[in-house]
Amino acid sequence: MADTLIKVDLAQSAYENEKVHNRWHPDIPMACWVNPGDEFILETYDWTGGFIKNNESADDVRDIDLSIVHFLSGPVGVHGVEPGDLLVVDLLDVGARQESQWGFNGFFSKQNGGGFLTDHFPQAQKSIWDFHGVYTTSRHVPGVQFAGLIHPGLIGCLPDPKLLQTWNEREVGLIKTDPDRVPPLANPPFAATAHVGQLHGDAARRAAAEGARTVPPREHGGNCDIKDLSRGSRVYFPVYVDGAGLSVGDLHFSQGDGEITFCGAIEMAGWVHMRVNVIKGGMAKYGIRNPIFKPSPITPTYNDYLIFEGISVDEDGKQHYLDVNVAYRQACLNAIEYLTKFGYSRAQAYAILGTAPVQGHISGVVDIPNSCATLWIPTQIFDFDIRPQANGPTAHIKGGADVLLSPDVS
Ligand code: ZN
Repeated sequence: MADTLIKVDLAQSAYENEKVHNRWHPDIPMACWVNPGDEFILETYDWTGGFIKNNESADDVRDIDLSIVHFLSGPVGVHGVEPGDLLVVDLLDVGARQESQWGFNGFFSKQNGGGFLTDHFPQAQKSIWDFHGVYTTSRHVPGVQFAGLIHPGLIGCLPDPKLLQTWNEREVGLIKTDPDRVPPLANPPFAATAHVGQLHGDAARRAAAEGARTVPPREHGGNCDIKDLSRGSRVYFPVYVDGAGLSVGDLHFSQGDGEITFCGAIEMAGWVHMRVNVIKGGMAKYGIRNPIFKPSPITPTYNDYLIFEGISVDEDGKQHYLDVNVAYRQACLNAIEYLTKFGYSRAQAYAILGTAPVQGHISGVVDIPNSCATLWIPTQIFDFDIRPQANGPTAHIKGGADVLLSPDVS
């Protein structure tokens, strides 16, 4: 069995674990070192460090300080790896902690984070998902069961000082175009809640002030939230610092394309079993600017879908020019409306789109003025037939459980 190089105690604050960090900065010391070819295991917190609880209230989703995320395990240094190399990472396996066989999905309040459909779901909501081996079900979203496509939402290598500066300059520049926007356009560095691993003293204060937030995906990978980057995948990461500095966290038991609910997929604490290798000079050899990966040979085989189309005309009937974001939103809203015909609340339907192995496709981007996006719902995850029938839909989901709602507080 591979050695567990980073251990996480879910009963302990993530801030007390020095092999965990929540910012990207080149000065964060390696939590451990390995050699090319080594296999090892890293344990991880869920992305909030345990803030969201398995209970019957969404107050935690409403009240969370989002500047604390994401708690990542690492960085792992790899001997002999240098800037310009490609770090080859095999995700040999990913799983939930034995003592934590559950995960959460939520929608953030529009006042605190929002989400893809925040104007339609402006209040904090939460559902809890229980794991049964490879399957998951939710007491808050009845009538569905699906196999997990388990993956890390967030994985990547440390930036060098120049890349870090580029990130901060371009994101702060974007914020300045509309500084009062709710939710904000981006998240600038924020020292007060930074956790910079084993750094201490002045070096820690500097890294906390400069460290990039972990929210967006960037050139190094980071928070890409790609459901298909799952256990069994091989990922090729660009390397910017000596040793690469690989960190991972934000594990998802399952997720729909887009992670549209933002809080998020089915979020869980867990572990990642990895092997690392190197391709020397691989960034230039292959023209790599962002990571590339090979998907897993093991994926749930859902092969029958009901596919919802959306075009770039918004909810108010306004025409947008080839806007894929607007088109995907319409596809999602169309799917939600449809699922309510079977008795689901709109929130339950939204939760299904965020958690189940739902596919999103950019289907057309040239037929002016409308782009076309499609949302693919696997029909086999439901306890009943969701296809249109001559005699109309039957309300299979009746009363009782619902996605938990916590009203805004002023
Ligand atoms: Zn996540």
